[in-house]
Parts: sequence; structure tokens; C-alpha cells
Amino acid sequence: MNNKEVEQQHIEAQRRLNEMLSENGMIEDDFKFVAVGYLSIDEEFEKGEVSTSFLTKLKVFWREGMTLATAGHHTCEFCNIATGSSEKELIDRENKIKYIFPEMIFHYITEHKFKPSNEFIEFVMRS
Ligand SMILES: [Zn+2]
Repeated sequence: MNNKEVEQQHIEAQRRLNEMLSENGMIEDDFKFVAVGYLSIDEEFEKGEVSTSFLTKLKVFWREGMTLATAGHHTCEFCNIATGSSEKELIDRENKIKYIFPEMIFHYITEHKFKPSNEFIEFVMRS
């Protein structure tokens, strides 16, 4: 799955949840979903250096964040190495964004020079 497909999946899940909530007279949860680091061999991605402090912080969040999926494994389309297929969600309440990122993001950053968006990096660094 690429970023767009992951976002679409979460938008759909939120829509169903909100339907249930509003039927029960509860307040809807309205977050924008931003998937980070679901790379595909068919798509260009941003490359560049990221700071060690960003990577260290992201690893802490990886351990502490909410796990969305843990089943199976995911194979890197660039070098065929496999890692777990877990995903994490990080919530930026201030800007109403839910970031979703896969376990493979660490491999992409260190092995394929993937550089996440500045928006995501800044969020991680100020969190
Ligand atoms: Zn790889």
C-alpha cells in the first residue's frame, strides 16, 4: 500500500466510527490522516539526510505509540528485505492530524535515504 491508500483506509474507518458516534449522540472526531513512509517502487519519494535526534525520537515514539497492526511482515520493494508490518499512529491534537507510519520507515530512512515531510519532522521534534 502507498501513502494515499493507507490514508484512504483510515478516512473510511473514521467515517464509519463517526457515523456510529453521531447515531449515539456523541461528538465526532475529525482528524486529517497523514500517512508517512509507505514507499512504493513505482513512486518518487523525497530523499535527504535526517538528524540523529529526529531518528532517536521517532524510535522512542515507535515504542510508545499506539500500535495499529502487528500481523505478518512487510517486504521492502527496493531491496527485498523483510521487517514486521506494524504501524503506529501519532496524534497532533493542535493541528488535528493523525500521522500513521510503518515499521519499515526506519529501514527506508537509514538504507534508502527517505526523508519524511518537514511537517512530520517538525511535529516529532516539538512533541
Ligand atoms: Zn530496502
